[in-house]
Amino acid sequence: MNSGVRIVGAGPVGAVCALALCQQGIAVQVLEAQPEAARADGRTLALSYGSQLILERLGVWRRLQDVTPITRIHISQRGALGVTRLTAEEVDVTALGYVLPYATLTAALKQALAEAEIAVEYGVAVTGIESDAAAATLHTDDGRRLAAPLVVVADGGRGDAASKVRAAPAPKLQRDYEQLAVVCEVQTELPHDNQAYERFTPQGPAALLPKGDRYALVWTASHADAERIAALDDAAFLAELYRHFGGRQGLFLSASPRKTFPLKLAYVGSTAADRVVRIGNAAQTLHPVSGQGFNIGLRDAWELASLCGDASPDALGNAAMLAAYARGRRVDVLGGVGFTDFLVRVFSNDIAPVRHARGLGLLALELCPPLKNFVARRMIFGARG
Ligand SMILES: Cc1cc2nc3c(=O)[nH]c(=O)nc-3n(C[C@H](O)[C@H](O)[C@H](O)COP(=O)(O)OP(=O)(O)OC[C@H]3O[C@@H](n4cnc5c(N)ncnc54)[C@H](O)[C@@H]3O)c2cc1C
Repeated sequence: MNSGVRIVGAGPVGAVCALALCQQGIAVQVLEAQPEAARADGRTLALSYGSQLILERLGVWRRLQDVTPITRIHISQRGALGVTRLTAEEVDVTALGYVLPYATLTAALKQALAEAEIAVEYGVAVTGIESDAAAATLHTDDGRRLAAPLVVVADGGRGDAASKVRAAPAPKLQRDYEQLAVVCEVQTELPHDNQAYERFTPQGPAALLPKGDRYALVWTASHADAERIAALDDAAFLAELYRHFGGRQGLFLSASPRKTFPLKLAYVGSTAADRVVRIGNAAQTLHPVSGQGFNIGLRDAWELASLCGDASPDALGNAAMLAAYARGRRVDVLGGVGFTDFLVRVFSNDIAPVRHARGLGLLALELCPPLKNFVARRMIFGARG
């Protein structure tokens, strides 16, 4: 085995990276701030078909119960013409994506880490990182210093493990959308038949993702509006959702308790310092429109592990390897960042000429199968389509 890599954070991206490195024969240690018994939050993830293939190769996919395929996506804008429908058959895949609870994924990954006998220390927070051209050293909150030829920061962009010792890198791109996502599950009158909806409105995009026999709802709106919506009682919430979304699925019959998540764009990029690489949300935090965030993070983890596997033990984590990683990920990551930012900004307004142009864009996509195929494949597989 090569000398080890240390990973900060056992969220889904850190865990996938650890499993992929282990498959490459590289020793890994993961440090996770949360205790082992911590419960994941209630968000729902839409995984692309490409992500499913990666999880299959890591032996994680077969552990996942509770997964609902998306075979069709209906994209529209409220109050204007223009609809696009994507189907799995058109792209020649069994499903365009899969919907599952974040908690299901993290539980399956935790089990896979344990079975692969990967060293994970739960309840240990990294408080700082020092590094130079030779090695990186992690400082932990229980007073240890742990050196490694490569440290992978997969802390979700919240912990800022690097900040205590070395200034955290400033985001190269940053935008506060001044929106919150209101998230819950809803029961509709008509069965979902594995169809997802992405509906653009001047207040922000809203998505319905088929999940079991219900829909997972991600409804984005301005802070004030989202807080008001989340506080509505069930009957008022369902009526407002119907007005917002329309009647394609019949009435909305019931809703689970609502939660809100703040939304922002922060693109830091992969490298923070010598021997340190940032992946997943630590490198880029995206708006959830079109469900790109984790899918890109998973490709970060997979590509990094592949490069580590190809590197000689001496080259693991050196400047040339990290530069090759940053180069390799640039198009995919910036493509995802640009795509989601474009969707939010271009669709979240009610300026008449822009509204008509959007309608024409959706229509053009609908009427031009090669263009539709191009967009769908990029959503599924990333820049390598
Ligand atoms: C409402 C909503 C809906 C979304 N929907 C989708 C979707 O449909 N599809 C999709 O692809 N993406 C979606 N996303 C994005 C997706 O949730 C994230 O991209 C993904 O969770 C990022 O994973 P991660 O492992 O990088 O970070 P996280 O999931 O945040 O995990 C980071 C881990 O690091 C640990 N940690 C933090 N600091 C430290 C420290 N100092 N020391 C040790 N450990 C530390 C944390 O405890 C945590 O376990 C959505 C996001 C939101 C908010």
